Amino acid sequence: MSQNQNCIFCRIAAGEAPADIVYESEEIIAFRDLNPVAPTHVLLVPRKHVTSLHELADAPGRAALAEALLVAARAVAESEGLANGYRLISNIGPDGGQTVGHVHIHLIGGKPLSPRLI
Ligand code: 5GP
Ligand code: ZN
Repeated sequence: MSQNQNCIFCRIAAGEAPADIVYESEEIIAFRDLNPVAPTHVLLVPRKHVTSLHELADAPGRAALAEALLVAARAVAESEGLANGYRLISNIGPDGGQTVGHVHIHLIGGKPLSPRLI
């Protein structure tokens, strides 16, 4: 498993930093965002250190990781009771507003969200 000691999400995945974990599989860890924007705000994070979803699309094992992210999203949405819907967002790079350089998908829900993204 490629890890980066300077990366907060690698440290959470390794159990070296605390997080409120809601889902774990071989490939994915999911935990609550430190600064939630909605009643449910969970980050879906591959354990492997890849910079962004853009990089992941070109990474070894990308098909399994993409599938694992989708499976994790569905499982978390169900365990959080989001039967009325939710939103998945992945910020990529500076213009995308990415602040943590380890690929993650935000799963946001628990209230009606605006149809407008920005
Ligand atoms: P980005 O801006 O990169 O798409 O999202 C990074 C997210 O990670 C932000 O929503 C931020 O609140 C969250 N975050 C940053 N550091 C930590 C941390 O140490 N623990 C948790 N649980 N969330 C974090
Ligand atoms: Zn990392």
